[in-house]
Amino acid sequence: MSLLEVDDIHTYYGNIEALKGVSLEVNEGEIVTLIGSNGAGKSTTLRSISGLTPPRDGAIRFEGRDISLMAPQEIVRLGILQSPEGRHCFQRMSVRENLELGAYLRRDNEVGEDMERVFTLFPRLQERERQKAGTMSGGEQQMLAIGRALMGRPRLLLLDEPSMGIAPILVERIYETIAEINRQGTTILLVEQNANYALGVSNRGYVLETGAVALADVSSSLRENPDVQKAYLGA
Ligand code: ATP
Repeated sequence: MSLLEVDDIHTYYGNIEALKGVSLEVNEGEIVTLIGSNGAGKSTTLRSISGLTPPRDGAIRFEGRDISLMAPQEIVRLGILQSPEGRHCFQRMSVRENLELGAYLRRDNEVGEDMERVFTLFPRLQERERQKAGTMSGGEQQMLAIGRALMGRPRLLLLDEPSMGIAPILVERIYETIAEINRQGTTILLVEQNANYALGVSNRGYVLETGAVALADVSSSLRENPDVQKAYLGA
């Protein structure tokens, strides 16, 4: 059984059908990438999974259970945590406070331990522990958004465009860290326009075009596919 199974979902904004029957799956332990151009429906797919724009038809199953009509806060409680596009850190709060907020649903005593883990993954966040999030660079805020999601101990981590607006050297570092987070046991579904790094770290990928899956394959094959190279890898 897959950890996450998206089964023929149709998601609308008013009368606009943004997803026209998207199906995909994510197995425990994988990194899966969704690529596609502007408006293809990548963010809408993540937002459908996290309950922000629930599908009108089709089903989303997490560990076999249908979550497609659950409220976002219930979905978060199941361990599906999203680091949203554009980051959305709490600008006037410090790095540490943002991370503490990420642990708000936890009742155990291991929050401090997890904060250490996040600081080990992103040493920059430790250096900036007391800095207000709003004064950090785009790349640093991206690290903080991922760190904050990790503080909730995700069973499935959803990452929306972790490379957006970030200098190439930092993109590489963020992707190395994403691979490390996965090695430590977190299953990841990520969305990217900048497909090169994403396909480099993921096991499998899906290409979305105008609200439907156009292609699905292991990431190494997608990277070698001439159509993918031309459309998404800047070849
Ligand atoms: P990008 O890489 O540009 O973020 P995307 O692949 O994530 O693109 P989505 O944001 O999922 O694409 O958008 C899919 C479609 O839904 C687009 O046609 C978009 O215009 C439309 N859409 C997205 N959000 C809304 C909204 N709030 N209201 C109306 N239409 C929307």
